[in-house]
Amino acid sequence: MLKGKTALVTGSTSGIGLGIAVALAKQGAQIILNGFGDTALAKAQIGRQGVRHGYHDADLSDPQQIAAMFDYARTEFGGVDILVNNAGIQHVAPVDAFPVEKWNAIMAINLSAVFHTTRLAIPAMKENGWGRIINIASVHGLVASQNKSAYVAAKHGVVGLTKVTALELARTGITCNALCPGWVLTPLVQQQIDARIAEGAAPDVARSSLLGEKQPSGEFVTPEQLGSLACFLCSDAANQVRGAAWNMDGGWVAQ
Ligand code: NAD
Repeated sequence: MLKGKTALVTGSTSGIGLGIAVALAKQGAQIILNGFGDTALAKAQIGRQGVRHGYHDADLSDPQQIAAMFDYARTEFGGVDILVNNAGIQHVAPVDAFPVEKWNAIMAINLSAVFHTTRLAIPAMKENGWGRIINIASVHGLVASQNKSAYVAAKHGVVGLTKVTALELARTGITCNALCPGWVLTPLVQQQIDARIAEGAAPDVARSSLLGEKQPSGEFVTPEQLGSLACFLCSDAANQVRGAAWNMDGGWVAQ
């Protein structure tokens, strides 16, 4: 389905980004990986799908490094057809005790990077008359939780940016949508489970209490499920899905 297309997936060395990269590769897309995790493992997983792939080590908090990643994509792959803005970080603290440097880092990586990659991707997509921009927001782009001021603000920003981008591109073959996952068991969430274990909870209780507080299904969303949704958004069937903030959250925001 995606043969001949190149997908850049930011933060794709683990978790959701890697799951989406594998799903797109299974559809035949060439993949550009990015992120600071285990790059060898991520490359091996994509390699198994038999598609051409590359890696760029851009730190997404730095607009110059993002521009260098797009230069790499142009030179090595002829450009980016599918942009998946996935890289993200989390920090948990009350707003009056939130470290300023953590606020700035979350804004830079979770929100401003999405602006920079989007503005750099659009011109070539317009020339080609086709493109897909998929922003991995969160249920926290739709509703709030305590102690996550920067994350919730950034993810609401991503949902807003998604809508504006979709509207500006509405008469083109480029769509822009956001995915809003609930809990997915990745390193980012494992940190929050570990914090509960450090406070004395047993590991299974830490997991089930985290899920039970927010996610009615009581089950984690998986990177594979999000990968399938991303593939759908890349298909012709999704040509008129524009500016959506699509929750996949075990019922979280239905409450
Ligand atoms: P993860 O920690 O497994 O992956 C994050 C990725 O981003 C990693 O590859 C990491 O190396 C990369 N990254 C971090 N900082 C970076 C930087 N400065 N430059 C480049 N890459 C950087 O986490 P995940 O849970 O897979 O999260 C992926 C996205 O999904 C994030 O945007 C997160 O907010 C969102 N999300 C996660 C959940 C969840 O429950 N796990 C739920 C909703 C949304």
